[in-house]
Amino acid sequence: MPVEVLRCRVCESEYPAVANGICVRCFGPLEPVYDWEALAVTVTRARIEAGPYSMWRYADLLPAAPPEGATSAPGWTPLVAAPRLASLVGVGEVLLKLDTANPTHSFKDRVVAVAAAKAREFGLETLSCTSTGNLANAVAARAAAEGIPAVIFCPAGLEPEKMLATTVYGARVYGVRGSYDDCSRLVSELAGELEWGFVNVNLRSYYAEGSKTLAFELVEQLGWEVPDAVICPIASGALFSKLWQGFEQFGRLGLIGEARPRLYGGQAEGCAPVADAFAEERRVSPVRPNSIARSLAIGNPADGDLAIATARASGGSIHAVPEDEVGQNMALLAESAGVFGETAAGVTVGALRAAAARGEIGPTDRVVVLVTGTGLKTPQAVEGEATGTLLEIEADLDALLEELGVTA
Ligand SMILES: *Cc1c(COP(=O)(O)O)cnc(C)c1O
Ligand SMILES: [Zn+2]
Repeated sequence: MPVEVLRCRVCESEYPAVANGICVRCFGPLEPVYDWEALAVTVTRARIEAGPYSMWRYADLLPAAPPEGATSAPGWTPLVAAPRLASLVGVGEVLLKLDTANPTHSFKDRVVAVAAAKAREFGLETLSCTSTGNLANAVAARAAAEGIPAVIFCPAGLEPEKMLATTVYGARVYGVRGSYDDCSRLVSELAGELEWGFVNVNLRSYYAEGSKTLAFELVEQLGWEVPDAVICPIASGALFSKLWQGFEQFGRLGLIGEARPRLYGGQAEGCAPVADAFAEERRVSPVRPNSIARSLAIGNPADGDLAIATARASGGSIHAVPEDEVGQNMALLAESAGVFGETAAGVTVGALRAAAARGEIGPTDRVVVLVTGTGLKTPQAVEGEATGTLLEIEADLDALLEELGVTA
């Protein structure tokens, strides 16, 4: 069922569903409008369960048709128990959602899948974006798979691993001298000049919808139940607010009952405009980022106020995690659960610990922690945090036994 209308989430003005990400009246985010009455008839648990094992099993609730023969489609990532982490933190049950299993190892493959399908539909033949790193990887890989050019804009000086994991796909990358927000402003201006598919600018209203599939999958993987709480990192706030919408939409379709999870957000202290505004009960005001969690370092988050409203509506909260705890939390996650997440995961685990320490979540709760990116792209952050050791030895059994303290 094609989406024909976009509606402003703030002032509710309606627009035709073209390549348009923002409301010209109030600058609010635009969202696809679905026919809920028709969907309530067609979308059943059985229909979803019969779909492909990727995010396209939820195509009825996305604004784009799945690409033909969708190769390496993202989604349907593992949800795994982390009992040792749960007991260390003092909550009933912790489940890790491993979006590191996506094709470019972050949750960004989900949003790019929808945006790229839309770009193709609109006949936009170059894919572009402004990125804090992971989005660059996902756009470059998607463009390579489709055989179209990718032109990517990042703040200069991102992690070298993230840059290599972009240029390897043949993309042209521009490192913009300045912050992500400077880069983002430049690209918004450029988008007015070129007929390109800028996934998080003129395609943003479609792109953001891809995030809902994380909520859908959690519900399905829990046997059509919701968890008590979800812990989620916040950059622009799009993932956080779309997660909530995902649960709401499943409720609206009668696929789940009345219960909703409490949503807890995390930001690193060096770029915490949303967490600070939440704590001070005010609107978000822009900051200049200085954080080790580069993937979350957006100083002027487009959906920041929406994220705050979402946290409050769900009964959750948003926490700022100290910079020096980000790497420690990455190591904690690795040692206690066998999962090496990136800096964003260090922030998310920090938010889990903060919420547990304040009694916002506890021994009776089943908590899902979103691991949105892999630690192999941000290895610098765990230097000096790993408790494992590396020793070089001779290829000699006696010497090795002595080293191991074993007497023959
Ligand atoms: C982009 C990103 C997020 C969240 O992004 P939003 O802009 O808030 O939607 C979270 N984790 C990682 C690893 C990311 O790359
Ligand atoms: Zn508006």
